[in-house]
Amino acid sequence: MTTAGTADEASRDFSRELPANFIQDIISNDLKTGKVRSTIHTRFPPEPNGYLHIGHAKSICLNFGLAKANNGLCNLRFDDTNPSKEETEFVESIMRDVRWLGFDWDDRLYYASDYFDKCYEWAVQLIKAGKAYVCDLSSEEIRAYRGTLTEPGKDSPYRNRSIEENLNLFERMKNGDFLDGSRVLRAKIDMASPNMNMRDPVLYRIMRATHHRTGDKWCIYPMYDYSHPLGDAIENITHSVCTLEFADHRPLYDWFIENVRPGAEPHQYEFARLNLNYTVMSKRKLRRLVEEGYVNGWDDPRMPTISGLRRRGYTPESIRDFCERIGVAKRDSVVDIGLLEHCIREDLNRKARRVMAVLKPLKVVLTNYPENAVEWLDIENNPENPDAGSRKVPFGRELYIEQDDFMEVPVKKFFRLSPGGEVRLKGAFIIKCEEVVKDASGNIIELRCTYDPNTRSGGPASGRKVKGTLHWVQASHAIPAEVRLYENLFIVEDPDNDEYGTDFVSKINPNSLQVLQNCLVEPELAQAQVEERFQFLRHGYFSLDQDSKPGLPVFNRIVPLRDSWAKIQKTAQ
Ligand code: ATP
Ligand code: MG
Repeated sequence: MTTAGTADEASRDFSRELPANFIQDIISNDLKTGKVRSTIHTRFPPEPNGYLHIGHAKSICLNFGLAKANNGLCNLRFDDTNPSKEETEFVESIMRDVRWLGFDWDDRLYYASDYFDKCYEWAVQLIKAGKAYVCDLSSEEIRAYRGTLTEPGKDSPYRNRSIEENLNLFERMKNGDFLDGSRVLRAKIDMASPNMNMRDPVLYRIMRATHHRTGDKWCIYPMYDYSHPLGDAIENITHSVCTLEFADHRPLYDWFIENVRPGAEPHQYEFARLNLNYTVMSKRKLRRLVEEGYVNGWDDPRMPTISGLRRRGYTPESIRDFCERIGVAKRDSVVDIGLLEHCIREDLNRKARRVMAVLKPLKVVLTNYPENAVEWLDIENNPENPDAGSRKVPFGRELYIEQDDFMEVPVKKFFRLSPGGEVRLKGAFIIKCEEVVKDASGNIIELRCTYDPNTRSGGPASGRKVKGTLHWVQASHAIPAEVRLYENLFIVEDPDNDEYGTDFVSKINPNSLQVLQNCLVEPELAQAQVEERFQFLRHGYFSLDQDSKPGLPVFNRIVPLRDSWAKIQKTAQ
């Protein structure tokens, strides 16, 4: 596995232009040599058959980023040539996600279906030029006639139909005279081409399906390979950037431009798609996860979708930073998901306020603290950011600490609380555990402690030092909360790999979601807004989920604090 990016970059300016990459080099050269006559123009062309994922974010950052860096334009174009799979819900989610990532297509929103009339007209033009024909072979026959990588294909018996017959049949295809799948329109290129894509590819198929925008107007639909270059030509795209699997389609792309729109500028360039470990990225698989209920919708915080990452608490800045760090290459690689997590930690380190939340509470009573008294301690919001200020946090006789922060029989090097031991409560006082209270079955239900009033944080120096500092909440002001903890959705690094001989869903991590119902958070968090992000001291970064109700906030853990990726990078150096 290859990991990408560098860990040691300090604070970053997200507004700056894209770093150099090979496509930018091509553009710079095209501008210098005058190869591109007009403005640099790119497009992001999603098929509206699912929600966008982090791989799409890479393509969005690249296409919109190239346009911005070169004073050019980037269009949003829905590649909606396949009527049976597309839904308006996806169109809307895609627009929302692109905007949320921080990009804008202004008034340049297009649909491949806007060009159905043009595509038809140009297909007729190809027929008239003797460069396209109606073929009656079945799809299996077409496949058999196509040959293999080592053997040339065979001409279709319909290849030499007259232009008149082709024009007539194609028109009747359009008019609905023939059954679905009974005929196709094919380009007449070269059945012996070493490139399989050039062996008379299909341009049009008959398909009676209602289209989300054109309704039942058409019963023939153009193929992606045909409509895509034409869409690029119509929109004056100069650099048509796509992923590597289309490299073999480039000669066909060029053929359509030459034969339909000679002189049009678009040229196709391919870059490596993003793969992440512990993740699946194919829309078909993501769709299965949603439809078969393995996750709670496209925006489930465990999903690699933009909406899932957003709901988890990722910021647009962190995703753009990630896309910048992984770079744009011509060779496929797998990026460590730890790098994505590293990017959000870096972004939130200065931005997120640090607050206290106790996920598994254990009651502490300070026996020498006055009953019913509450004092409000001043605690800084973020030591990394002097502008973040401070807040008042209540302190009193009854508190909660984390169950895990107490051990009745402490193991070696346990610097937290144990019988007779002392710890500092963050931003407050040193306390000493005097007594352990248990219920009838022997469970620890309360610690009775004393506090030392001379050890107030920020107060006069007491000269006393203890090894452990614990987070806590004061009992009467604490707010109950639900906290959702996440792990990778898959237990193996490459769930797509069929070597395991099983379906990818069998590799789902059964612990990918853990819900903690009885958490307690400091009162400050009653004002939190959906998507607002915090650092819960010692627990990680969290964001407020939309499932929150008044009096019962729900928090998603974005990432724990420990940065495995930075650590890996360190040991690798
Ligand atoms: P499917 O899973 O349905 O094959 P797709 O990847 O082809 O999906 P599209 O909606 O056609 O999805 O993709 C829109 C654009 O995003 C295309 O230009 C595509 O190359 C790019 N893209 C898709 N997946 C990735 C990825 N993992 N990394 C980088 N770019 C991607
Ligand atoms: Mg696609």
